[in-house]
Amino acid sequence: MSEARMEYEAQVWIDGWAEAPASDWSPVLDKAAGTPFARYGTASSEQVDRAVRSARRAQPGWAEVDANTKCEILRAFARELENRRDELLTLIIRETGGTREKAEEELGQSINQLLNSATQLTENAGAILPPYKNGKISLSRAVPLGVIGLIVPWNYPMSLAMRALAPGLAYGNAVVLKPAELTPIAGGQVLAEAAKAAGVPAGVFNVVPGNGPETGRTLSVHPDLDLIHFTGSFEVGQQISAFAGKNFRAAATELGGDNAFVVLDDADLDQAASCALWSSLWYQGQTCITAGRHIVMRSVADEFTAAVVERVAKLRVGDPLRDGVDLGPIITEKQRERFHEGLVEPSIAAGAKLATGGTYDGLFYQPAVLTGVTPEMPVFTEEIFGPVMPITVVDTEAEALDLVNRHRTLMNSVFTKDPMRGLAFAQQVKSNEVHVNDGYARHGGEGQLAGYTHRQWIGIQTTPTDYPAWASK
Ligand code: NAD
Repeated sequence: MSEARMEYEAQVWIDGWAEAPASDWSPVLDKAAGTPFARYGTASSEQVDRAVRSARRAQPGWAEVDANTKCEILRAFARELENRRDELLTLIIRETGGTREKAEEELGQSINQLLNSATQLTENAGAILPPYKNGKISLSRAVPLGVIGLIVPWNYPMSLAMRALAPGLAYGNAVVLKPAELTPIAGGQVLAEAAKAAGVPAGVFNVVPGNGPETGRTLSVHPDLDLIHFTGSFEVGQQISAFAGKNFRAAATELGGDNAFVVLDDADLDQAASCALWSSLWYQGQTCITAGRHIVMRSVADEFTAAVVERVAKLRVGDPLRDGVDLGPIITEKQRERFHEGLVEPSIAAGAKLATGGTYDGLFYQPAVLTGVTPEMPVFTEEIFGPVMPITVVDTEAEALDLVNRHRTLMNSVFTKDPMRGLAFAQQVKSNEVHVNDGYARHGGEGQLAGYTHRQWIGIQTTPTDYPAWASK
């Protein structure tokens, strides 16, 4: 693309400095307008290698920085983002196509991550363990992992990067970030600028923009990482884990899920319908915890479906920078082809009915409600990752539970007026997170020491001790 400077540029950041990319610039689109408003430069393999080497050099010094100073730097990092609030909200809206509410959630979570990590960085940093024999003092201390390679997707570019960046830095690691190619400004450039202004030392945080198969892969297979932290699709996560396994490298993967929203026969249907919309259509259904399957008991199915269809039909899809818009554009034509042509149309061909929506103009997709969905249809078996609500009717609670647990899920919901029934159901669901009478959840705040440090045990023998006789022959 043209060499003319754009409003925003995502550069390669190594050792505290922005470098020109090795190759041409690529455009970053304003997703609603469909026109470029920024550009990014792809980091070459040589730049990825230098970024990792710079992180390796800087990390030991950063680990030694005292806790108060680290804390101050993380808080200053949060202030840098806070000071640019209005500008960053507009940037996130343009770059991700989400609404202002979604941008506020994302920026708020990013700032909170930094503040939480600043608070938590001195907690559980070490312990004196009970003696296991006379005269032996045992210490356990948290040691930084070292250099973390971080690869993130486009849906929450800033907060998903921050989810690992903030605790990673807090616990003394250095990080090399590869933002998603669709969102390299909020997910890369802005973070590098803010980190530098906040006083994160050179080399402790480097950014290598570029696409997945080249730049992402180069980073993920770099021999000198201590941890590869990946958030994204199952397929890429599987490749990254397989490589890490073969090479005895730690890998943390946060992948997709085909999450379920269950409505039992005694549910408050008004509340369930509103929550179903929120859980399925927040950010156009493009989050890993989106409810992609609605499993409803037969006696309440018609009423629940009517309530959902009535609400969905009223939603206004458009440019989220305009007033009165409920849902923005989906991220790319390719995504629409994947979920509409790839999942919705074959499900309709197999007998599902389109109750509302399912039409589109470019990236503006009118959210669809599909009824008569059976567990064999593609909208049920695959993660949709788009604004589509499939409804499947079941006769029993046991059948509902079986369908929930047939798939890999991250978060599920169950609606019932009886909280004990909800609790009993939730306890049998095989996912880390289940909500009774609620849905789409916001995380945050939990301690993350374990993911970004390893434990070192140090034993000190303070008195003479006996060894087997043969050891002193
Ligand atoms: P993706 O896997 O295509 O891309 C994610 C990141 O990986 C991008 O930065 C991309 O450039 C990079 N990448 C792509 N191919 C690569 C390769 N071969 N080697 C190394 N890096 C590579 O995923 P996506 O389409 O951007 O994101 C959507 C998926 O992410 C969905 O499945 C969603 O559920 C999942 N997700 C999970 C979470 C979570 O916390 N569990 C959060 C958000 C999204």
